[in-house]
Amino acid sequence: MKSSSTFPFNGETVFKILSKKIKYNWKEYVVLVAKNEDKSPFAVLIAIILSQNTNDKNSVKAYELLKERVGITVDNILKARIEEIEDSIKSAGMYRQKARTIKALAEALKKVGGEGFLMKKSPEEVRRFLLQIHGIGKKTADVFLSVCRKAPYFAVDTHAARIAKRWGLVGDKANYDEISRALLDFFGKEKVEEAHRLLIALGRRYCLAKNPRCKECPLRNICPYVQKRS
Ligand code: SF4
Repeated sequence: MKSSSTFPFNGETVFKILSKKIKYNWKEYVVLVAKNEDKSPFAVLIAIILSQNTNDKNSVKAYELLKERVGITVDNILKARIEEIEDSIKSAGMYRQKARTIKALAEALKKVGGEGFLMKKSPEEVRRFLLQIHGIGKKTADVFLSVCRKAPYFAVDTHAARIAKRWGLVGDKANYDEISRALLDFFGKEKVEEAHRLLIALGRRYCLAKNPRCKECPLRNICPYVQKRS
């Protein structure tokens, strides 16, 4: 069957279609809850740590409870007992490890003069600082840099990786850095934050790991994955 596509497949077109067709409620994204409600870079990092390997529903619950019981500031986290933090964030899973990462982050920030460091230093320096903390990897650092610093780092999670491979932007064995670079080149550095969020929504609703719902997907007429199989 011949493709019915009349649109080019490029980052600009894909971004336009996804922005128009995929709507989401920011209250369902823990990172946006932290950003919009608490407006603190430390709170955004805590939200990203809580969201590791779990869904937003669980991490929003953990975030709200931690806020209520401990308070999400560097000083409150430093003062809190580790058990109190663990108990507050249980719903996010891996709570022992996450509680230690949260404590380690607060301690590291205290040493450099507080959370202002995250906004004042260059994105490269902040990335190096974050990657030294046990439990913070490239994805966590890159989500933070794209959300709070608007810096050109495309965070790669399982959705972004799967979609980039299906679109043929990278090969099946591409690593984190290769996928991140390919998505950055595809969407452009001004759009990293929003494009990353749209890819998560696309991956959750249509581009599922097993049996992607291509027939209903807003990209069905231009997606290279569909065209390859037609
Ligand atoms: S058309 Fe299919 S493979 Fe392409 S983005 Fe949509 S769900 Fe994924």
